[in-house]
Amino acid sequence: MHQDGAFEHIDALAFDTLAVRAGQRRTNEQEHGDPIFPTSSFVYASAAEAASKFAGDEPGNIYSRFTNPTVQAFERRLAALEGGERCVATSSGMAAILSTALALLEAGDEIVASRSLFGSTVSLFDKYLGKFGITTRYVELGNLEEWAAALTPKTRLLFAETPSNPMSEVVDIAQLSKLAKEQDAWLAIDNCFLTPALQRPLELGADLIIHSATKYLDGQGRAIGGAVVGRDKELEEVFGVVRTCGPCLSPFNAWIFLKGLETLGLRMKAQSENALQLAQWLDAHPAVVRVHYSGLESHPQHELARRQQRGFGAVLGVEIKGEREGAGR
Ligand SMILES: *Cc1c(COP(=O)(O)O)cnc(C)c1O
Repeated sequence: MHQDGAFEHIDALAFDTLAVRAGQRRTNEQEHGDPIFPTSSFVYASAAEAASKFAGDEPGNIYSRFTNPTVQAFERRLAALEGGERCVATSSGMAAILSTALALLEAGDEIVASRSLFGSTVSLFDKYLGKFGITTRYVELGNLEEWAAALTPKTRLLFAETPSNPMSEVVDIAQLSKLAKEQDAWLAIDNCFLTPALQRPLELGADLIIHSATKYLDGQGRAIGGAVVGRDKELEEVFGVVRTCGPCLSPFNAWIFLKGLETLGLRMKAQSENALQLAQWLDAHPAVVRVHYSGLESHPQHELARRQQRGFGAVLGVEIKGEREGAGR
């Protein structure tokens, strides 16, 4: 351990060990579990210490909108699991996307995004970023020619969810990252559905990872939260937005996510295995027209999904005979 209690040499450890140990910082009590710091602000030994911390000359916590030890533990753990230099936690997944956009984009910039996106992400791009002169073009997720054709010199951000919900389409992240680099734009991947247990987009060339911690990182339906992971350079800008504009994560929720991460690998493996069994069963069912799941060999991008992912995740789409009424029944 470091003198300040944070574990060192942690990057060399296996995923499941990182999931319980990365970012952990023990107090002098030497507690076994992660402590919670439910405090708005922090005290100083002297006025001089306060002044130097506020000026940024000395590290340390000042106010929990800026930094909080429990939130930092979650950020360090998730950064380690994604293989990123830094993580900034946010109050929700949507706050993670908004903070990233506010940090990196300005009026006149363009986003190119996959057509199949989480609904609120589309509203955020069109209704809210649109108000401030940032425009978004949508393309077919798996069609790299369409991505390439949509890019212009004003494109600053490529944004995708892979596999998509609910059609389970997949995009080649390494190829998409090449397109982004040619245009000097960032590639952000919303990694909610696979999590770093099954897919690590930074290793494939993505610049930024978006998480709704609300989903599998917690995995037990208890709290809303989000995170952005990537390089120091961009994350320092995202941190500035969260610090100033305020969509910070509560220490209570950060603690819940720390507990969620401990079992992430086991849960994602079990859920993927269950989803594959369910997909195979539905695929053979007479009431089913088609199952959309990248884990099925009949899926048009199954080979790509196998190469790029360590599992196929637990979200699948299914078309039922008899249209809407049939599905409802
Ligand atoms: C839920 C979700 C979000 C938004 O996260 P919240 O925590 O609900 O704000 C973003 N992207 C995907 C893929 C999601 O499923």
